Amino acid sequence: MGVLLANFIPEDKIEEIKNAADIVEVVSEYVLLKKTGRNYNGLCPFHSEKTPSFTVSPEKQIFHCFGCSTGGNVFSFLMKQDGLSFPESVRFLARRYGIDLPRPEMTGKMRQQVSEREQLYKINRDAMDFFHGKLVGGSQGDKAMVYLKRRGFSREIIDRFYLGYAPDAWDALLNYLKHKRVPAEMIEKAGLVIARKDKNGFYDRFRNRIIFPILNMSRQTVGFGGRVMDDSLPKYLNSPETPVYNKRRLLYGLYAARNKCREEGSVYIVEGYFDQLALYQRGVENAAATLGTALTPEHIHLMKGFVKRAVLIFDSDEAGLKASERSVGMFVSEGVEVHVVMLPKGHDPDSYISEFGPEAFYKLAGNALEVMSFLMTTAEKKHGLSVNGKLAILEDLRRPLASIEDVNPRQLYIKELSERLGIDESAVLEKVRETIAVLKREHEIQARRAERFTPPAESMTIHKKRAQKSRAENRLEQQIVAMMLQYPEMLLEIEKSNVLDYFMDNTLLFIGKLILEHPPGTEKGISNLMSMVDDAEKRNILASLSIKEEMWNQRDCRKIISKLISHSPKRHEISLKAQISAAERENNQDLVLKLLGELQKITVLNRKQMNDVLKEH
Ligand SMILES: [Zn+2]
Repeated sequence: MGVLLANFIPEDKIEEIKNAADIVEVVSEYVLLKKTGRNYNGLCPFHSEKTPSFTVSPEKQIFHCFGCSTGGNVFSFLMKQDGLSFPESVRFLARRYGIDLPRPEMTGKMRQQVSEREQLYKINRDAMDFFHGKLVGGSQGDKAMVYLKRRGFSREIIDRFYLGYAPDAWDALLNYLKHKRVPAEMIEKAGLVIARKDKNGFYDRFRNRIIFPILNMSRQTVGFGGRVMDDSLPKYLNSPETPVYNKRRLLYGLYAARNKCREEGSVYIVEGYFDQLALYQRGVENAAATLGTALTPEHIHLMKGFVKRAVLIFDSDEAGLKASERSVGMFVSEGVEVHVVMLPKGHDPDSYISEFGPEAFYKLAGNALEVMSFLMTTAEKKHGLSVNGKLAILEDLRRPLASIEDVNPRQLYIKELSERLGIDESAVLEKVRETIAVLKREHEIQARRAERFTPPAESMTIHKKRAQKSRAENRLEQQIVAMMLQYPEMLLEIEKSNVLDYFMDNTLLFIGKLILEHPPGTEKGISNLMSMVDDAEKRNILASLSIKEEMWNQRDCRKIISKLISHSPKRHEISLKAQISAAERENNQDLVLKLLGELQKITVLNRKQMNDVLKEH
């Protein structure tokens, strides 16, 4: 949390937002939560899992995942989920809860301090308004408006999705934004203009196109798609990758589809903007489109919080087949069921629903095959069931089968295939095992290659893992911090006993000191405390120690404190330091020197002991 940035938003406003925002409500937008006792549980959006270990405490207004140890308060949730900065998450919640934030007139220097991402959101938002204005407000966009109407899109849908028109000019948007004093370099960074080859200025990327703004799950405009209205090429043009636009993590229209997805428990995945819009307009609101890329695990992470089933809709056998083969393993490991619909020849979702209506569409989707059955059926049709045909089918299916990491579903599919083909199950299994070994080797080679290119990050994670392991050793220190969070009656005694001085774990020490400085008091205080912690790892630990409920009593607490003090390797060190101070006060130089020598030895020893603990893991 940049202090400077936070200063743009008054403290009392942050407080107001914190009081208004309910973490259960906010998290529910992304994760299907179920009440269990005092807390809520759901599938973690930050790691792959099939049994819920993601926990939200409405009383403490914090979350914690017992699987991947991510944790925090409502702000840190949004920061992590949507990649927002702290002020961004504050503004998002302010909008959501109808709290007005003052927008300070920014000086040049302040502007520099605002995060680049925030600037990019703002530029994209301005560009979206510009394009939309051109479509609905002036003569320039008439042609585009006629085109959209002819394709059957209502004014309502045009406004709902802020469709726009990029004028047929080289600098229409460029001039508009320059007029708003946006530096050209930033417009380029947003992907909206391209530098001229002669380095002499910039020109608009999108010209004479229908514009589809792309919004992320927090409804921020992150990029654009543009489509021509005639046969010129390229038919579609998308924003390039920017700090806020990553097509591997975005699905067009998902932000608008979310509620319906949650209601239905399912999502329709299509390939084009018009497909998504056509479905939405006819009431099939739980649809989203990929942005010119195959489905990625990140896409599935985005939607698995509110759907149990994804239906992939394709208009050509080949694209459908490839995408299905690739995505089987991904979906299975996220616990999301996946079905595949092939549209009749010559149709895409847009033309199909326009011609036959939503009833026909639902019927078609209702008959969709589960993805593995789809692959088996397609392969059977292609190769036939002769001996050679069966071998070819096995060949086609071995990779998708091998990509399923979970043994149980994989085994079921292997059984199904062997039955369909009349081949011995062990023969299929053998083939799949071979393939798993091949895939594993491929992964290792890839991983090694990646490692060679990014050694610092790699060593960072090893370092972190070690730190985490050594933390497991510090069970007593953890207990004391948990006690401080959950049983504030002990705070005074903890302070008096100086038990924190005996801590070996710096993170726990940091948290302990923070609690003493800002005693949480009320339960919401823990969420406040979290706002003071910049480091995500520290926040995770803080959340984990406050969410696990234990029964505390004074006697046990005192036992834990004295146990830590008597077992701490630092004990001797601390008592020596006290003796040194005493000797210094008495001006006994000989004793001071002797004690200092001893202290040095012990410090080295303690440090070595710490290192050994780290090395063991
Ligand atoms: Zn998790």
